[in-house]
Amino acid sequence: MRYSGPVCRLCRREGVKLFLKGDKCFTKCVLDKRKSVPGMHGKSFTGGRKASEYNKRLREKQKLRRVIGLAERPFRRYFALAAKRPGLTGENLLRMLETRLDNVTQRLGFAISKVAARQMVLHGHMLVNGKRVSIPSFQLKPGDVVSMRESSRANTTYLRWWEQTHQSSAFPSWLESNAGTFSGTVKTWPMRDEMSFPVNEQLIVELYSK
Ligand code: SF4
Repeated sequence: MRYSGPVCRLCRREGVKLFLKGDKCFTKCVLDKRKSVPGMHGKSFTGGRKASEYNKRLREKQKLRRVIGLAERPFRRYFALAAKRPGLTGENLLRMLETRLDNVTQRLGFAISKVAARQMVLHGHMLVNGKRVSIPSFQLKPGDVVSMRESSRANTTYLRWWEQTHQSSAFPSWLESNAGTFSGTVKTWPMRDEMSFPVNEQLIVELYSK
């Protein structure tokens, strides 16, 4: 089941900033003040104990699941598909997640967080190659053009996000953002060092390979 509670709690659980709230993550992050896991007694992130190998792998998987906003079952499906593809399973997994429509919507600067990007896709604001696509997990490939529906461009919030991200963001080289036309292109498949997930994917592979 998808988690629908306070998202800052997820960052506190993992002990790192997962940047799930957009602007607020840079200005008023709760993690800058509270260095403890959620719960009544507020243990520190490690709980004072040395984490076991299993726990380290589990936490790494949970972190990735939380960043992309996936429940366990679909996440496992991604892993199974990644394992069947040629190349490194961990890298295949991250590449598939990186090229989801909701993730690319955020990375192109249409939205300030992955949660907001997912909502934009679900509500039908995004087009792929000129056609409306409202499936956040839609897989993009090199050559695909992502744009915002013309009628959505008047939305003041989306306009503010677009202007804000185009003033401050550096876009990865596998994407090309066209500020004037509210669109962007997937130029190539992303390489590992340009993916947006702050995880050690090898630990996730080890967890599922047991
Ligand atoms: Fe909340 Fe963002 Fe800070 Fe995470 S990084 S705790 S989502 S403000």
